Amino acid sequence: MPELNSPLAVVGTVAIDAVKTPFGARDRVFGGSASYFSYAASFFTPVSLIAVVGQDFPEEYRKILKEHPIDLSHLEVINGKTFSWKGEYGTDLNTAHTLDTQLNVLLDFKPKLMFKTLPEYIFLANVDPLIQADVLDQLEKPKLKFVACDTMNFWIANKRKEVLEVLARVDAVVLNDGEARQLTGEPNLIRAGQKIKELGPGYVIIKKGEHGVLLFYESHFCALPAYPLEEVYDPTGAGDTFAGGLMGHLASTGDLSFENMKKAIATASILASFTVEDFGLEALRRIQRSDIDQRLALFRKISSF
Ligand code: AMP
Repeated sequence: MPELNSPLAVVGTVAIDAVKTPFGARDRVFGGSASYFSYAASFFTPVSLIAVVGQDFPEEYRKILKEHPIDLSHLEVINGKTFSWKGEYGTDLNTAHTLDTQLNVLLDFKPKLMFKTLPEYIFLANVDPLIQADVLDQLEKPKLKFVACDTMNFWIANKRKEVLEVLARVDAVVLNDGEARQLTGEPNLIRAGQKIKELGPGYVIIKKGEHGVLLFYESHFCALPAYPLEEVYDPTGAGDTFAGGLMGHLASTGDLSFENMKKAIATASILASFTVEDFGLEALRRIQRSDIDQRLALFRKISSF
């Protein structure tokens, strides 16, 4: 298939998950940070997915990615098994408990990027920070417009130094409340956000699950609620979907101002609100751009005064 001309690229995991929530359990769910990200972002703009899978990666999952304008020319297949994650949620759906992480092919992943047209927006989704840095080394150029990253407790605990090195090189970081506290040792989220800004990123975005999101930029600050949902089924992928909505909005508008970043985080919250309504990518697969716009309009109405 010819390479799509994508202004946005993501590196992250493409995974086979096993998930248990109070509402059900699934043994094999299509997941991974880059899968959720690219599916969400591609409602707004074509996106290139940079990731690795093993030979066991199901064809049906590849077909799901092909439903949207997602360029798969950098989805490598190598010998071995696909990255897998097993997680569980109790009644507090904001906290995922990791039961097992099998890095598998991720251990041998050395991305070799051969873009005909280089992307200008890059998202370093949750993956080994050494892989994030490697992608940044290959794509960094004077014209690069915006780089953002994510991480999680697993990498903060196991590769803290490398996580800090990536943070020093990005324009924005998106992370959840627990990760912000773990990274800074600061229980107060406002102070944690300010401390993270000192580590490098101009924009710091802290997600608080059902309690919304905080945005820090220079001396500006914004707090947005989450879209209120009566039924949350499986929160897995909410963070990656959020990041996909955010970067998709930024890449499609080309506007990196604080005002537009507020619109981007509102859009991101709406995308995430769909993901949590079902397992895996199922809820996102059922919606159209018009569903996103409709929910966004309602969100604007109920959160303004
Ligand atoms: P979240 O959006 O934070 O709920 O991320 C969920 C996705 O992250 C799952 O589909 C997992 O496959 C993936 N994941 C879990 N652990 C890791 C890890 N250590 N590195 C990268 N991706 C992970």
